[in-house]
Amino acid sequence: MQGIVYRADGEMQVESVPDPEILEPTDAIVRVTKASICGSDLHIYNHGEAFGFEPGCRVGHEFVGDVAEVGSEVRSVARGDKVLSPFWISCGDCIFCGKGLYTSCLNGGCFGFPGFWNAGGAVQGGQSEYVRVPLADGTLDRVPEALADDGDDARTLPLTDVMATAYHGVSEARPQPGGVTVVVGDGAVGLLSAHAATLFDQRAIVLLGHHDDRLGMGRRLGATHTVNTDEQDPAELVTELTGGLGVESAVCAIASPETMRFAIEALQPGGAVGWVGMEVFFGAPDIPWDMAYLKNATISGGVAPVKRYLPALWPHLEAGRIDPSPVLTHDLPLADGASGYSIMASREEGSVKVAVTP
Ligand SMILES: [Zn+2]
Ligand SMILES: [Zn+2]
Repeated sequence: MQGIVYRADGEMQVESVPDPEILEPTDAIVRVTKASICGSDLHIYNHGEAFGFEPGCRVGHEFVGDVAEVGSEVRSVARGDKVLSPFWISCGDCIFCGKGLYTSCLNGGCFGFPGFWNAGGAVQGGQSEYVRVPLADGTLDRVPEALADDGDDARTLPLTDVMATAYHGVSEARPQPGGVTVVVGDGAVGLLSAHAATLFDQRAIVLLGHHDDRLGMGRRLGATHTVNTDEQDPAELVTELTGGLGVESAVCAIASPETMRFAIEALQPGGAVGWVGMEVFFGAPDIPWDMAYLKNATISGGVAPVKRYLPALWPHLEAGRIDPSPVLTHDLPLADGASGYSIMASREEGSVKVAVTP
């Protein structure tokens, strides 16, 4: 079968790779109907060697598909079921799964990242025709019947990561009814954080970014105000919208050390920052601790436990209250999937996120 592999920094390739096999009775094999490239995959593309990626590593952790085969102990899904896999494998039984912290599962791991994979066999990436899913009962979620057609994949696929990560960020920012939420960052997670905030009865949703095309998409997804921070200081708008008090909620959705500073500066006393950017991989974020202290600010968040949010997100998607598909600006055949990395890495005008279809 074909799959995308890391060859070297700046070089991904579609190659023939071995078909996955059932290795444990709790495994399932999924035939991928659509996968997507993530901002975190770009970190592999740009700095894979520094992160310990060997040439030939299979990549991809966002995919939906049909169950092709199940091991003898799998009970919750069967051959032919349309399923979605969160990017993190989880057992559903350990103490942290019990707390809803599925990305801290004691038995879990992440697709497409050898450093977070302890499931044996070759590391399986989701940007492939087939993928082995360990701990299938704990990991996979059946796609609701109304969304199970392959034509719905662009709507369901973002729930594997970016839509659920956005919802996590907004939830951790503790939005108050009638309040104001600021979202820092106009990548897929930032855009979908503005989208997710529409579910929380916000008086205003302010999206900050650097790209006018993406800010335009953010307004279509639900942001009531956008600021290109290259051109305008967002503090004035925050003051105007909140009578100088600051916002109740801020979502930090970008991988930069500086963004946390703005999120905390925008807060009112008692406000909360939901933190879902990956600053931690790029050095310590620039947090004004004195200001956070004096404001009694809450800072929480982290790697999104996608599985926790799916029961809330499926009905919103089915009812049409959310539709994250606009962030998938490109959909390439798997054979051309490697070029999706250069499209995303170069931030080609009009691009946010690339899907690949086997
Ligand atoms: Zn992702
Ligand atoms: Zn677990």
